[in-house]
Amino acid sequence: MAHDDRLFEDAARRAARYLREVDARPVAPTAEALDGLARFDEPLAEAGVDGAAILAQLDEVGSPATVATNGGRYFGFVIGGAHPAALAAHCLTLAWDQNVGPRVLSPVGAKLEEVAGGWLRDLFALPEDTAFAFVTGAGMASFTALAAARRALLLRAGWDVDADGLYGAPEIRVVCSAESHPTIHKALGLLGLGRKRVIEVPTDAQGRLIADALPPLDDRTIVCVQAGNINSGAVDPLPAVTAAARAAGAWVHVDGAFGLWARACPDAAPLVAGLEACDSWATDGHKWLNLPYENAVAFVRDGGALRGAMSIRAPYLLESGAREPYDTTPELSRRPRGVDFWAALKALGRQGVADLVRRSCGQARVAADGLRQAGWTVLNDVALNQVTAVPPAGATPSAVAAAVQADGTCWLGPTRWKGRDALRLSFSSMHTTEADVARSLERIVALAEDVRAKAG
Ligand SMILES: *Cc1c(COP(=O)(O)O)cnc(C)c1O
Repeated sequence: MAHDDRLFEDAARRAARYLREVDARPVAPTAEALDGLARFDEPLAEAGVDGAAILAQLDEVGSPATVATNGGRYFGFVIGGAHPAALAAHCLTLAWDQNVGPRVLSPVGAKLEEVAGGWLRDLFALPEDTAFAFVTGAGMASFTALAAARRALLLRAGWDVDADGLYGAPEIRVVCSAESHPTIHKALGLLGLGRKRVIEVPTDAQGRLIADALPPLDDRTIVCVQAGNINSGAVDPLPAVTAAARAAGAWVHVDGAFGLWARACPDAAPLVAGLEACDSWATDGHKWLNLPYENAVAFVRDGGALRGAMSIRAPYLLESGAREPYDTTPELSRRPRGVDFWAALKALGRQGVADLVRRSCGQARVAADGLRQAGWTVLNDVALNQVTAVPPAGATPSAVAAAVQADGTCWLGPTRWKGRDALRLSFSSMHTTEADVARSLERIVALAEDVRAKAG
């Protein structure tokens, strides 16, 4: 079948219109749009349908049932929008249909992965020869980095875990903050290190691991710390943890899904001082850098351990002698993620990344101040981009979250932190303007008042 110019242009036109209108629509889809999804419930037909009709159905039924995370007033999870340059570059790579597993399948994909990996290492001021792997999300990045950690620690003990497995292997201990992100536990489970076998270290009022409460460390211990607690944005005490780990020969892994980006902004960088002394790092591109989804990176100081854990060999893989992407990631086939990173970093420059981080942090402070003035209790010190707050008595957080989501002006989600039900707002989108913050704040406060009035 021939390639079809008109079809791709139709897709581009529809995408452009979606983006033009995304800020004018309710952030969560309407009940009518959700009901409309039933139009997808049809049996697989005997005969195929032409592409134009497929695009029309996808756009007419699907577009209204999206959540407007690519607008300016989505404050759930830590969801950034998509940078126009990265989004457009991403679309071009889709037409290329590149598989960057083996270098020979996508020289440009492999090249831009190396360029973007080097730029990121530089931006985060990580050690010079740190290896990198482009994966789907921060959870997968932690999985990848922890696979390297497992390999390195067991090799030192004379055990090749990737060849011989974990049965009979010397024991590895994993020490985590009691507020580690659930993806860390999932990664540990997948690696055979156990979701529940971890030694949990208590946290302080801001959710930072208490360094004095660390158990004795040794050279068969992995310590997982975080830069950017999902509720408070707080960063674990990296200098104290890395000093203890260095002395004992333990491996320190950092979950910096969004917090690592503080490193790229002079105002916020002091929060993550000491980061360079860790052994591995995980971060997302689809959060604060505002890339399309499934963009994250793992960094591992010991590149040999990463390659040892991830390498794959087959006679047809045509080793080039240069860096082979398939030697770094769990997947063999995958799309050229480096392009999205390259495009956004090139579009923003160092200054643009720093400004994005600074602006998001400023918006978080404005929102926290506004909520406090309206009688809310802000539970965290707003040092970064997360705000966790409790509405005035009488307005339960879950009812306020439901009211805000149904209203459609903006979106925030409920959370539970330090034993309290609360609401959480994340500021991580380049599309969020100061006017968006003001308008959302006004609406959130008013809706909480309504909930309170109705409950009272
Ligand atoms: C979002 C997040 C993750 C998981 O990231 P994914 O991209 O969803 O895999 C892990 N840790 C922290 C701190 C996060 O904020």
